[in-house]
Amino acid sequence: MDKRRKKQFRALKKGHPIVSIGMFVALCVALTLLVGTIASLIISYIIDSKLGSEYRDLQYMTRIYETAEGELEDDRIYELLNVEGRDYFITSKDGKIIYEYGRNTAEPQKVSAFLSYMTDGENEAAEAEKVIIRFDSERHLLSTDDEGYIDIDELGLIMQFPEIVESSNEIGTTGNDNFLTRIFDIEPGTVAKIPIWFELPIGNEGNVLCGKTFIKVNMSDFAWISALFLSLFVLVMVMFVIIFVNLIKGLVRKRNAAKIFFTDISTRGRNWMWFLLHGEQYMKSTFAKKDTFAIVNLVFVNYRNYCVCHSLAAGDDLLKEIDKRINAKLNRNEICARVTGAEFALLLKFHDKRALEARIREIIEELSSVDGEHIFHFQAGVELIGVARNANGKVTKRRYFDMEVAYNNACTTRATLAGTEESGLAFFDERMVEEQRWVDRVQENQRHAVENEEFKVFYQPKYDPQTDELKGAEALIRWISPEFGLVPPGKFIPIFEKNGFITEIDHYMVTHVARDQKRWIDSGFECVPVSVNISRAHFIENDLAEQIRDMVDAEGTPHELIELELTESAFFDDKKALVSTIKKLRSYGFMVSMDDFGSGYSSLNSLKDMPLDVLKLDAEFFRGGNNNTRGEIVVSEAIRLAKCLNMRTVAEGVEVKEQVDFLAGQGCDMIQGYYYAKPMPGNEYEERMKQNEIEKKRITEKVESAEFATFIGDNADVTAITEAGTAG
Ligand code: C2E
Ligand code: CA
Ligand code: CA
Repeated sequence: MDKRRKKQFRALKKGHPIVSIGMFVALCVALTLLVGTIASLIISYIIDSKLGSEYRDLQYMTRIYETAEGELEDDRIYELLNVEGRDYFITSKDGKIIYEYGRNTAEPQKVSAFLSYMTDGENEAAEAEKVIIRFDSERHLLSTDDEGYIDIDELGLIMQFPEIVESSNEIGTTGNDNFLTRIFDIEPGTVAKIPIWFELPIGNEGNVLCGKTFIKVNMSDFAWISALFLSLFVLVMVMFVIIFVNLIKGLVRKRNAAKIFFTDISTRGRNWMWFLLHGEQYMKSTFAKKDTFAIVNLVFVNYRNYCVCHSLAAGDDLLKEIDKRINAKLNRNEICARVTGAEFALLLKFHDKRALEARIREIIEELSSVDGEHIFHFQAGVELIGVARNANGKVTKRRYFDMEVAYNNACTTRATLAGTEESGLAFFDERMVEEQRWVDRVQENQRHAVENEEFKVFYQPKYDPQTDELKGAEALIRWISPEFGLVPPGKFIPIFEKNGFITEIDHYMVTHVARDQKRWIDSGFECVPVSVNISRAHFIENDLAEQIRDMVDAEGTPHELIELELTESAFFDDKKALVSTIKKLRSYGFMVSMDDFGSGYSSLNSLKDMPLDVLKLDAEFFRGGNNNTRGEIVVSEAIRLAKCLNMRTVAEGVEVKEQVDFLAGQGCDMIQGYYYAKPMPGNEYEERMKQNEIEKKRITEKVESAEFATFIGDNADVTAITEAGTAG
């Protein structure tokens, strides 16, 4: 799967509700922390500002004590401290109370806090110091005009924005049972005092002074603090709501986008993208590692016809129904999607191959009557995916599984059924991949091979069976690749025919044969016509005859030395164009032959219209020896027919002497077969030409000397010499 698609998939996955809800919760926590911090900062500022001066007063007492220590009697010192009018007590190092003044209502529990009070003088920078605090056991908050008091715990609660605290009946002014209301009802200017005890070290003996102080709070402060917190609370709530609404909106949008992204436009079901991403992810997961799977490429064969006869919309409806029916047949964790056209991808689980086959056939059976009127055909290619194992043989996750490769294998398998329109099922086998790999390698190398002149022309001579004289040759291509060695044409010509590269090969062959012929003429050889195969695909080009003429002319080769072979199947294409090309070629002086006559479909009818020079009888006629009388009848009639139409005949694939004798007897003009020679490289063919010339010369000499003998009246010798010459 390519990176771009994976990225898109990941982006869509981010829209998963769990992720978004997680983000929302995190945001809420962050917001709460932020608000909490702000609130605590405000509170500590308030407390700080209220406690600072109280603490300084106590420090003043410790300074009095320390100045008087050693100078005055203890009682005298205490008197001095008492002047301050504060409730206090002094404890020794071990916590025993040494002296106390006023009421000791301090709680035993101690709390430490940091206090940033003004150390010395109003203008000096604040400095935080750890102080020990005790709350007052009476825990009440007094107003100065003694209207009543409020429990200090309730005050703590309001600081944290609690649910409304129930009324304490000790509150004086309003009788209202709502604490918050009571706070707001207190007259502006009313000052409340919160008792608090500070502990400070005093003297040089490790004693501690614990003195009572009051935090004086203007009650109207409570009102604005409450208002502040209330608005902060409302603000936070509004923010939560906005974030939440946006989150839900985003989620819905993402879900809709994902839906569009993964929905097939024809079936409204899942599409190929979903199959690819979801299927691959699942196959690679831990949940799937122990299961075996089948990846299926299922094709609705009659779809195009159906659309032509009905409409595209009707075709879409049918696809929708097919998708529905397939999905209804799926088990848990099995998936299906339309890929393109009338092609579906299925991911099935299986344990037993035969049961799987039966199941797929059942699906095909069900689909074959999907519209209740027609009988449709479906073809399936199946790739089986077993479990993955590590080096120790333990089942592991399919880490390297690639859905595209697997599906492609299923498609390759299905393509093997494409020759028929019938329903069918095929299982993938490794040879198919090998074939596909070879096709890829050939295609990767084709251009470079032409540029590098890796394609070589081999020549297979054609002989006259009467005289054994060389009469022609067929140029056959060989690929001598530095990578693959010698490759026969059957392994690459069909590939080039499919991908169109064959036209370049045809050009290459015409040029090289013309070049060889020209070189041989220039070297003094008695050249015979060489035929070049022209692919059927090439005949759709209008100016083919001109192209060939120009290529041959470029090499300076006489046209009569080049013959062009067209395969029989080409005669089924555009007949008019074909006839026109043949006529043009012949008018330029080239010979034209029909290759493989008798293979495949009968082209007797084509013979009627085609002005051809040569008929090449297919090798199939001569396969399996010479013991087929019916075959002999067909061959002899074909030769007779060709003669009647003024065509010469070449028999291909002749391997045994009996066939040669038979063909000679029937008047076949040439034989091209292993009996005489296999296709050979140019230099070997040169040798054949030389040999042929020597033979011809020898026969001519013998004939000439025989004629001379006749001339002098020695008749018996003449017959003997002539017979010896023709036997070669
Ligand atoms: P073809 O045109 O029918 O070529 C004749 C094939 O029969 C050659 O196979 C040749 O080697 C083989 N053959 C000849 N005599 C005998 C025999 O006695 N016994 C047997 N068993 N086989 C014999 P080759 O060279 O492998 O070529 C196969 C096919 O590849 C050719 O069939 C032709 O269709 C195609 N081809 C070869 N060269 C070219 C080319 O240059 N251009 C194009 N377009 N096609 C070519
Ligand atoms: Ca041929
Ligand atoms: Ca042939």
